[in-house]
Amino acid sequence: MDHEKINPLYEIKKYFQYLSVLDYTLLPRHREFLLDSFVPFLEKGKDFDTLLEEISRCSKCSLSRTRKQPVIEKEFHSQKLMVIGEFPSRDDDFYGHPFSGSTGEMLQKMLLSIGLKLKDFYPSLVVKCKPPAGRLPEEEELNTCKNYLFREITLIKPKMILALGNLPPKIFLNKPEPISTIRGRPFKFRESVIIFTYHPNYMLKNPAVKRLIWEDLKTFRKYYEST
Ligand code: SF4
Repeated sequence: MDHEKINPLYEIKKYFQYLSVLDYTLLPRHREFLLDSFVPFLEKGKDFDTLLEEISRCSKCSLSRTRKQPVIEKEFHSQKLMVIGEFPSRDDDFYGHPFSGSTGEMLQKMLLSIGLKLKDFYPSLVVKCKPPAGRLPEEEELNTCKNYLFREITLIKPKMILALGNLPPKIFLNKPEPISTIRGRPFKFRESVIIFTYHPNYMLKNPAVKRLIWEDLKTFRKYYEST
């Protein structure tokens, strides 16, 4: 680490975030704990800031021409849980944050039903920029953008991932299958367990999937408790 370039306020802020992730309410006394655990966390935070900067300037695909802004989580917080959606909604595009507006409210209700909250998760999207005119992201856009998500996963190292909708199986599975056949089953991706389910927005058009999502969430909870 280059000590000449340390910003003390940045380091203190990150240190308190780190303690909060570990559920500490008091400062630990051991010097080894402070240095040995915090320094890797801080370095990860810097890698995260680099990634954020890259995404915020990205123009690798045509969606950069029509988006308002790329949609990403702005703070590094190492979480055990990650939730991944498909691509930004109109609200996400406006506010710059995944799961803004009504989709976020619906997701919050879904998660509360299994005793979790949206803030327990690191939120992300497969494609970071909103496609124009309500179209879906194209294959090339998906393949270009997915590397950002994989880099987020490398930094966050979630134990469990809840993946919503039809796009996540396309990037996580070697042989993508329809969501209807893989939902609610655990899949391994690197060190994480992924559970796929329907996107909350799909429930609005097809109320029958509400029960299926509920079953998948219960499975997610069961694996979460055993990790
Ligand atoms: S969708 Fe992804 S790859 Fe395309 S411009 Fe946005 S951030 Fe870059």
